[in-house]
Amino acid sequence: MAFDRCGTWRIVTSTSGQSEGAWRTVRITDVECILLRGDETYGTRRNEADAIDQGDWLALIRVETDQGLVGWSEVETLTTAAPSIVQGTSMGPIGFHTLRDVLMDEDPSDTERLWNKMFVGTAYYGRRGIALHCMSAIDNCLWSIKAQAASVPLYEMLGGRKQDTLPAYASSLFWDDPEDNHRAARAFVDAGYRAAKFGWGPFGEDAGRDTEILSAIREALGPDRDLMIDPGWYGIGRSDGYRFRTRRENLELCHRVAPYNPVWVEDFIHPEYVGDYAYVRERSPVPLAAGEQLTTIWDFRRYLDSGCVDILQPDLTRCGGLTVALLIAESAAEHDVDVITHSWISDLLHGYSTHYMATLARARYVEFNAAQSRLSRGVTSGTMSLNDDGTLPVPETPGLGVDVDVEFVEHHRVN
Ligand SMILES: [Mg+2]
Repeated sequence: MAFDRCGTWRIVTSTSGQSEGAWRTVRITDVECILLRGDETYGTRRNEADAIDQGDWLALIRVETDQGLVGWSEVETLTTAAPSIVQGTSMGPIGFHTLRDVLMDEDPSDTERLWNKMFVGTAYYGRRGIALHCMSAIDNCLWSIKAQAASVPLYEMLGGRKQDTLPAYASSLFWDDPEDNHRAARAFVDAGYRAAKFGWGPFGEDAGRDTEILSAIREALGPDRDLMIDPGWYGIGRSDGYRFRTRRENLELCHRVAPYNPVWVEDFIHPEYVGDYAYVRERSPVPLAAGEQLTTIWDFRRYLDSGCVDILQPDLTRCGGLTVALLIAESAAEHDVDVITHSWISDLLHGYSTHYMATLARARYVEFNAAQSRLSRGVTSGTMSLNDDGTLPVPETPGLGVDVDVEFVEHHRVN
């Protein structure tokens, strides 16, 4: 592999694997969305310390090249709709194309141009939502392929490593019963985590129960480990005709959780209610975090310009992929806002997140899904695990450094 004068890369190979001095540009030969079916359902179980993520469906994106380099990424979206957008049938005019058709025979190293080409090719039905989610995962795959071709860990391609260690926080769900929350928090402490986040579930529906749950968790974590709270913004809606909390109610929530000393309260306002975020942040006694549903740099700049949050949480399989995440990091730094990726499902996303977070000037934590289902754990055979000191390793092998268990994928594949 070498860089030519234009900065694009080419691989020198022969059928024997030996260099033969003939330069060939890598070409994309296939892009597909693979649907996997599992047998577990999202949620928590009484008397158990483990929660389950989306254990019923998982969508993987696979990008293949003519040089044998392959990129993998998961994509968290409405999985059953994703294959149509990736490898379905295009319609005639530009703007109605599928992503595979846009990318076939292209040079995968040309990430920025291909991002634009995908964005234009899907402009009439895409721009946000599932199309942008699929684009994000494809973009990650292209970056992985680019790093494989250069024989360097992905973080080198993203600008180089600035973090020696990345503290991980255990990410899980709230249980209904305070005792179950206590049991889970204790398990995270025993596993060596320095911090834990609890989210969704029953939180935000009843102030009294919220307080009992947080007391139980804080007692189990002790005073030295960090706590993150992810109340969700729909909680009150389920019991109240899908009414969102008012600004005042959201501010009250922040005051209610403040005694438990959270490092942030996350994603408790509907993502379109930018003004509410700014209002609450201005007055809140605790820092605010959000961004997992946002897509494109324009959404993130809107949050930054409006003063919505203290921490931005782009999900690399939704925000627009690594190409957009690099822009987010730049903009966030200008606003003195931290970036901590949303990283919830498989080790593929943990891998992309650790590479990206390792390149940031400030990286307080990485999110580690402590509620992996058999499906989300199985796709990589549980590759990534916590170091003894509560940090996550950044893969050092070329590319992403997280291998997919192809046999497992074939066994669970339904399309
Ligand atoms: Mg969240």
